[in-house]
Amino acid sequence: MSLDIVIVGGGISGLVAGIYAQRAGMSAMIVEKNHVAGGECTGWDREGFHIDNCLHWLVGSKPGSDLHRIWAEVGALDTGVHQPEFMYRSELDGESLTLWADIDRTEKELLALSPADADNIRWLMRLCKLGGSVMPPAEKPGEMWSFTDVIMMSAQMNKLVKLDKELAGMDTRDLAYRFSHPLIRAAITDFCPPESLANSFPMAYGNFAAGDGGIPRGGSRALAQRLVAKYKELGGVLLLGCPAVKIERTAEGAARGVTLKDGRYLKADYVIAACDTSVTFGTLLPKKLMEPMLARMYKESKNFRIYGMFQAAFAVDAAEPITHGDVMLEVNLGDIPWAGNRITVKDFAYEPDFAPAGKQLLQVMLGTHDAAFDWWYELYRRDHAAYDAEKAKLAARLQQVLEERWPQLVGKLRLLDSWTPVTYHRYCNAYRGYNQAFTPTKKSGKEFYPKPYLNNVPRLILAGQWMSPPGGLPAAAIQGKFAIQRILQREGKSIKV
Ligand SMILES: Cc1cc2nc3c(=O)[nH]c(=O)nc-3n(C[C@H](O)[C@H](O)[C@H](O)COP(=O)(O)OP(=O)(O)OC[C@H]3O[C@@H](n4cnc5c(N)ncnc54)[C@H](O)[C@@H]3O)c2cc1C
Repeated sequence: MSLDIVIVGGGISGLVAGIYAQRAGMSAMIVEKNHVAGGECTGWDREGFHIDNCLHWLVGSKPGSDLHRIWAEVGALDTGVHQPEFMYRSELDGESLTLWADIDRTEKELLALSPADADNIRWLMRLCKLGGSVMPPAEKPGEMWSFTDVIMMSAQMNKLVKLDKELAGMDTRDLAYRFSHPLIRAAITDFCPPESLANSFPMAYGNFAAGDGGIPRGGSRALAQRLVAKYKELGGVLLLGCPAVKIERTAEGAARGVTLKDGRYLKADYVIAACDTSVTFGTLLPKKLMEPMLARMYKESKNFRIYGMFQAAFAVDAAEPITHGDVMLEVNLGDIPWAGNRITVKDFAYEPDFAPAGKQLLQVMLGTHDAAFDWWYELYRRDHAAYDAEKAKLAARLQQVLEERWPQLVGKLRLLDSWTPVTYHRYCNAYRGYNQAFTPTKKSGKEFYPKPYLNNVPRLILAGQWMSPPGGLPAAAIQGKFAIQRILQREGKSIKV
């Protein structure tokens, strides 16, 4: 079969789609606006240090699931996986609580911390064990499931139904407020936004504790480069530094190729849009063609939330690891209306190549509310120097927080870089600089998956994390693979890839 596919976007979704296209005997061409592929799964070098942008955990890193098979087939796990001893440690008012890889150990720690919450603690830990046994279906798209597939999947689905039943009508904030101890409340919302569905925390921590949240060695950029190598090895073509500006259509409306910013027209039998959906609809195609569920998500921003981050990376003039993993701290930035009050601090001691010998690297992530994007974007648009100055000012405040928490760092920290939601917007065309897809809330309703096909644009398949809220690397990869199976089905071919 010699079908030509043009894939817009060389992030993880586009790369996975490209690999499976080549494996299925089609010839794919990926067009990527940046000079490095990987999209948000990236990292960069500064003064001998490597700053990793993405990988904190990867669902599917443990053998035995369909998702793991995808990661293994595309080469994501070739360098091995680091299994942290704990998911994160939350601190508040001088107390600390660790989410260990061993749930029973966490349960003991929680019971010692807050005996008054004993019943809820046991209940939540039981839900985490249940959540950790739910695996996302990744073998084939749901619309292709046969009756037998449905029966086979029902055991998995039943676990999810059971979990959701126990958490009916709740979001993560409600779940946190079942507990009286402020640190337990903080720990639950430290990773999952308060408005996210209540199953988010039990599934996230449960997956981690089940050993399925490891970190592929070498970091995000190296992972993406392994996918690039696999794709090219299979004969795929990758055009870097080539933004697409239009999806071209036949008189009947079907996708027939892509025009690049440099004027080149790439003809194709199919187009896969694996870029941000705000680019697909608004730049590549008229916005009015937007898939209806997606359109609802953009419109109902209160029910489908987006979040961003301010981040800073510091060189540490010391050889000893500082945090030994992710540590969540309280900060008081009350004068900044768009800033959250918790930060994640992380060293990369598990990646000795990320810092020169005798040094460490510390990264700080400050969660921001949606309004942060407008604030930073307006500043960036008006005055680049003022934007840089504000970044440095906020980074200096965060440095002070680090020095207060770890006094041994005084005089040993040096800012390497800081970045904002605008960075993701500029680099990846990410909608309002968000790093995942829309986060459904308890008000979103139960159906929130956009359709990957548009009736009025045949031969266009939508992929990328935005097709599978709330996004993340697994969503990106699964949608990339599914895009190829969707083409194969349309061509009447076997969807086994
Ligand atoms: C700070 C941070 C931490 C994260 N941590 C984790 C984590 O620990 N675990 C996890 O699972 N996920 C994590 N994520 C999320 C994960 O990075 C994303 O879900 C995933 O990388 C999205 O992949 P994608 O291919 O769907 O989209 P993208 O990465 O956005 O890729 C889209 C690509 O399209 C390109 N593009 C855009 N417009 C055009 C155009 N007009 N023409 C050509 N190309 C175009 C972009 O440059 C980009 O390369 C994190 C993200 C961030 C930012």
